[in-house]
Amino acid sequence: MGEVNKKKKKRGGAKRRMTAEQTLALKSVNEWVLLAQHSNKAVDDEERENEDEFLPEMMRRAQVCEKVVFDLHSHSICSDGFLSPSALVEKAHQNGVKVLALTDHDTMSGIPEALEAACRFGIKIIPGVEISTVFSTRQVQVIQFLAKDDSESEEPVHVLAYYSSCGPARFEEFDQFLTNIRDGRYVRAKNMLSKLNKLKKPVKWEHVIRIAGSGVAPGRLHVARALLEAGHVEDLKQAFDRYLYDGGPAYSKGSEPAAEEAVQMICKTGGIAVLAHPWALKNPIPVVRSLKQAGLHGIEVYRSDGRLAVYSDLADAYGLLKLGGSDYHGRGGRMESSLGSVTLPVLAANDFLKIARPIWCDAIRNILEQYIKDPSELNLKHITRFGTKRISTSNSEKDIINSYLRSWLTKEEMQHAVFQATMLKL
Ligand SMILES: [Zn+2]
Repeated sequence: MGEVNKKKKKRGGAKRRMTAEQTLALKSVNEWVLLAQHSNKAVDDEERENEDEFLPEMMRRAQVCEKVVFDLHSHSICSDGFLSPSALVEKAHQNGVKVLALTDHDTMSGIPEALEAACRFGIKIIPGVEISTVFSTRQVQVIQFLAKDDSESEEPVHVLAYYSSCGPARFEEFDQFLTNIRDGRYVRAKNMLSKLNKLKKPVKWEHVIRIAGSGVAPGRLHVARALLEAGHVEDLKQAFDRYLYDGGPAYSKGSEPAAEEAVQMICKTGGIAVLAHPWALKNPIPVVRSLKQAGLHGIEVYRSDGRLAVYSDLADAYGLLKLGGSDYHGRGGRMESSLGSVTLPVLAANDFLKIARPIWCDAIRNILEQYIKDPSELNLKHITRFGTKRISTSNSEKDIINSYLRSWLTKEEMQHAVFQATMLKL
């Protein structure tokens, strides 16, 4: 294509000075990131204040990192990744990541383990999930009414959801939503195997299930690995290129919800909805337009090779957050971006938190209100769902709740009148 390989500009020696806006953003991001560490020390508010007072200015500054590495897209063995949640967190720590979103496909089952590991490494985990959906162009074409039936197309779309430390509000409803998608994956994998069988490339069901691991809903990658191990293809790429690509001879549709439905579900349960890897879509514009109407907050724009201008412009056009992460699976190989390799500028991280934090705060308040209405053990579990702190019998429920909230909410957020009104009822 005659593409010119531009040499990377070396920023020799001198650091680029940050603008005032960047400095403020960095301060605000750092404050939020450090909340978890404060609360891990299990100090109460008073002690925290005293501690800060006696901390010399120099040391206080030293606590603040100059750069905060976010990785907002990663996978573990709880879906199709190769590392356990704790191994993933350890790797993130080695790579200098300070904020990691675990976003397994259609499950949040790895979050508690990731949080526990994160406590050891001083990393902040954003509980996340990557939801498999389909986008149908039917509606668009009905409007054009010239479209023939066969030109109606469906395309897989992945939507990332980011939650607070308490997870989704209306948890049961959200959990059922994900369960339905996972159940559909078993049916879909079986359909793919029967197609492969007809193509004289037999793969055993037990084999696919063993690769997926216990309790993990099988996906295309697991089928591809089984094809490879059975000697039908030379590598995973060939498995996709020959059989498993969208619409390929062994491809099968799952029972995924409409992308708009997933976005609405995320919004309704106090999450941030972000369109994953728009560069994988045939035509991202109608997808973005329709999902924005459903409540989409952002799209991935940053990759390890930099910011993609096309999607950045798209984000600007629709008023969406510009985000990104490595989509690390731990597969290895040169093609994979390593954890923490995506540079999310501090302004983008701050914009994300500015939108997300009030939404998370509200979701936490809703979960608290539910507990106040019915202080059952189950409702307490909704607050501490992803928590790792041991609940000792000497702690009152209020103490437990307080210690959970402190790892996620700032003092200002907790002292906000609306939030205080809820806390007073506890
Ligand atoms: Zn992903």
